[in-house]
Amino acid sequence: MESPKPPPGAPGPPGSPGPPGLTLRSHEGKPYRFDPGTLCLELLTTGGPGAYARWEVLHEPADLAAWADRSRLPGGLDLAVDRTDVERARTLRDALFLLTADRAHGRPLQPDHLDAVNAAAAEPPLVARIEADGARGWAPGATGARLLSTVARDAIELFTGPYADRIRECGADNCRLLFVDTSRPGRRRWCAMEHCGNREKARAHRARRVPDKG
Ligand SMILES: [Zn+2]
Repeated sequence: MESPKPPPGAPGPPGSPGPPGLTLRSHEGKPYRFDPGTLCLELLTTGGPGAYARWEVLHEPADLAAWADRSRLPGGLDLAVDRTDVERARTLRDALFLLTADRAHGRPLQPDHLDAVNAAAAEPPLVARIEADGARGWAPGATGARLLSTVARDAIELFTGPYADRIRECGADNCRLLFVDTSRPGRRRWCAMEHCGNREKARAHRARRVPDKG
């Protein structure tokens, strides 16, 4: 049984591996693909501390499970999530958000943010397994705490790994999306070329044309 291949960038059905990254929407409601480069930074698109609370999408246990489904984690997770996990997910995300922004701007990392990541990572993580047919699966007993541990461990690998100096904020003025540039040349500036990249190019183009008009 063969199903048609989705076009590049299209979100696959839940549980399909699909291209990495998440589908976000611009202020005008136009969907675009944002790949922050690694799992832990995908959590930062669910809201954030302070003024970012108005973008909060993690309200119910089902919201956290839905995020896991949209994330770059392989599909097929059968997650048991409770309200405490949602609370913990927001705490971890807010700490990770501030930690990542600090890292992107070369500021010192705050001990309480590091504590939050380390506490989540100390829990047992999600466990992968290989099925009888050779396919990849997940061990039973996947919980919200295990999911957050996997996210926190990914953050520790990122912050202590070879790409720690490639953690950046989108170069557009009004965009605060955080990503890690894993490209070979290492010159990624935008959250997504099709979003901020093109908007900034158009803005630069208009700026260059201004003198002609006078
Ligand atoms: Zn951007």
